[in-house]
Amino acid sequence: HADIAMYRAKKLGRNNFQFYTPAMNEESLERVRIESALRNALERNEFVLHYQPQVDLKTGQIVGMEALIRWKHPELGMVPPTRFIGVAEDTGLIVPIGAWVMRTACAQNKAWQDAGLGNLRVAVNLSARQFSAAELLPGIEQVLAETGLEPSCLELELTESLFMSDVTPAVDLLHRMKSLGVKLSIDDFGTGYSSFSYLSRFPIDVLKIDRSFVNDITHDANDAAIVASIITLAHNLRLSVIAEGVETAEQLDYLRQQGCDEMQGYYFSRPLPAQDFEQLLRQRRGLAALEDEPQVAVA
Ligand code: C2E
Ligand code: MG
Ligand code: MG
Ligand code: MG
Repeated sequence: HADIAMYRAKKLGRNNFQFYTPAMNEESLERVRIESALRNALERNEFVLHYQPQVDLKTGQIVGMEALIRWKHPELGMVPPTRFIGVAEDTGLIVPIGAWVMRTACAQNKAWQDAGLGNLRVAVNLSARQFSAAELLPGIEQVLAETGLEPSCLELELTESLFMSDVTPAVDLLHRMKSLGVKLSIDDFGTGYSSFSYLSRFPIDVLKIDRSFVNDITHDANDAAIVASIITLAHNLRLSVIAEGVETAEQLDYLRQQGCDEMQGYYFSRPLPAQDFEQLLRQRRGLAALEDEPQVAVA
């Protein structure tokens, strides 16, 4: 019965009546623990960014990276973003945390550019909650001004849920963001309530195909068809397309065949600490190097 109650409670979501179970009590306890620790995490410098390379499928070269937050808490250990981003959103802490991510990612990218490591693009994830904050637009402007990063080297990742939420940004706000010169992408494309109308109404540059589709493209004809269709759709709308979560050479081959523009995933590299990412850039390691080498097993 407890299992069924849990299942129902999960399906109903956190705003609905929930049955009490020991498992849920533990879950909410952990949430409370995370929430209170999260309040001090910024000032205690417990966050770091890891960077996952994005590779151009025509040239095989690294052309960008996604900044992904990591939280190392002295007692809780490494807390993955999937466990704390939701809490940060609910508490509003995502606003200062998100601002820190943007500033850190832009400063790091500019430092690499100044070191002659290439004019890469850095992608930063934005939560819907950040759109309800008045400081978003001035914040982006300020970070660009302070770091001196070329606006076209900053990409902001939005999710489809943003367009269904009660804080759906005015078309106007996205146009003003665009007019700063930054790029806008839709993350996890295909997993939300995809509505094609926003693709034509909002000034989007990039679609990121969710890894749940990429995962099975070599085994599931439907997923292969969906991925091919997303690529065609993107190109017909003059958008560029990135496949997420590419783990095998076979997946890569299929994406190449279908004309996908870029990829990121464990096949090329996991998200890396800044130092390791820099090493990769210094070696100018692209896809070709990997394809010549014997494959390193991915866990
Ligand atoms: P996302 O933005 O879709 O990021 C991609 C996630 O897929 C990352 O998980 C990445 O490590 C993982 N990934 C990349 N390649 C592969 C692969 O080949 N196979 C598999 N199995 N996974 C792969 P991560 O770093 O745990 O982040 C999870 C989510 O947390 C992100 O999903 C994003 O929604 C959120 N997130 C991370 N950093 C931030 C941030 O700074 N701000 C906000 N608002 N959200 C963030
Ligand atoms: Mg993302
Ligand atoms: Mg994604
Ligand atoms: Mg996501």
